[in-house]
Amino acid sequence: MSSQKRSSPSNREATAESSDPETALETARRQLDRAAARLDVDDAALERLRHPASVHEVTVPLERDDGSVEVFTGYRAKHDSVRGPFKGGLRYHPDVTRDECVGLSMWMTWKCAVMDLPFGGAKGGIVVDPKRLSDDETERLTRRFAQELRDVIGPKTDIPAPDMGTDPQTMAWLMDAYSMQEGETIPGVVTGKPPVIGGSYGREEAPGRSVAIVTRETCEYYDYPLSETTVAVQGFGSVGANAARLLADWGATVVAVSDVNGGVYDPDGIDVAAIPSHDEEPEAVTRFAAGLTEDDSPRRLSNEELLELDVDVLVPAAIGNVITADNADAIAADIVVEGANGPTTFAADTILEERGIHVIPDILANAGGVTVSYFEWLQDINRRAWALERVNEELETEMVRAWTALKDEVERADVSWRDAAYAVALERVAEAHEARGLWP
Ligand code: GLU
Repeated sequence: MSSQKRSSPSNREATAESSDPETALETARRQLDRAAARLDVDDAALERLRHPASVHEVTVPLERDDGSVEVFTGYRAKHDSVRGPFKGGLRYHPDVTRDECVGLSMWMTWKCAVMDLPFGGAKGGIVVDPKRLSDDETERLTRRFAQELRDVIGPKTDIPAPDMGTDPQTMAWLMDAYSMQEGETIPGVVTGKPPVIGGSYGREEAPGRSVAIVTRETCEYYDYPLSETTVAVQGFGSVGANAARLLADWGATVVAVSDVNGGVYDPDGIDVAAIPSHDEEPEAVTRFAAGLTEDDSPRRLSNEELLELDVDVLVPAAIGNVITADNADAIAADIVVEGANGPTTFAADTILEERGIHVIPDILANAGGVTVSYFEWLQDINRRAWALERVNEELETEMVRAWTALKDEVERADVSWRDAAYAVALERVAEAHEARGLWP
């Protein structure tokens, strides 16, 4: 393979910096404590769920293209596996930390439980800016990471997937390196692979599709006909772009989109199908915006301005911690659908709730990714691919089922959507802990 740079993998957008100092782990722990305080959860199970089952830290040396050696740090945090194998993505990002992996692994546990998937939660990654690496370097780094993680991953124990800065090609290298060492092809060790080697059709599009499905259901529920609904989407990676395109197809007016450098706004709607996603052409929104003059419609706007637009639905689909205590009072949308993992800090969430803004949490909204990962894992076990139509139909069924369970809890307990999601997830996980018990 040439060492020329591939187009950057999805979700690499970085957007607004926050002065709200909450880490993913702090947010995840506060959310858990809040949920536990409201629910009748077994104390022993709860205490176990406050901690990760294990966190693996590895050193990943890389020979750069110039022959020098650089050493990187990688992690795999495993939170809980009471309902099934650990499951969750691997991210390549300079801000990856141990605590971030632990926080994100907790969210994976809840996400899988909200969707009633037979998986637990994990997350990992490497502290690296993948934009600095050539293709060949990324391949060598990934193969060495696979080797370092070899004893702690496996198709029945812990199954990685793509996340920020990684993509189907990364999963292909991981699967190949693992399989070569095991002496047999083991497609089920990772999900989110290219379909040609056992990946599922529809997997890349799935997180964006689930965001669109829950947006549609929520809008219907609160009496916002999609044909009269305005949507602003932050981030034009696979989550943001696919959500925006589907919602536009279903009749919504997408008035703003953005990437790492900023966005574009048109009250009459943007032709989102005409702008390539970050995977198709990195930073295409930036180039589109650069071609506009000050008096043009659409006009340019910053990521901060996008978040504060007076729209019906805001979809933060770039990075974590973009809605913070600093800007929560300025959010003007009626509904926020979390496409990214952890875009709203705990402090901001409280403010949005007080202001009557409905927040559809990440652990439901973007759960289409891990749901189709589950479909992929089943296809790998059976060595039989499903057609795209079947994947999308089953995803639709699972998302509507999970959304409806949360809606019932919102109505029954008169709580926020996040509290409802935690209630459903925590109950399922805690019940499994009670049933299995503690041994030895
Ligand atoms: N990284 C994705 C997430 O945050 C997908 C995880 C998976 O498919 O295992 O949900």
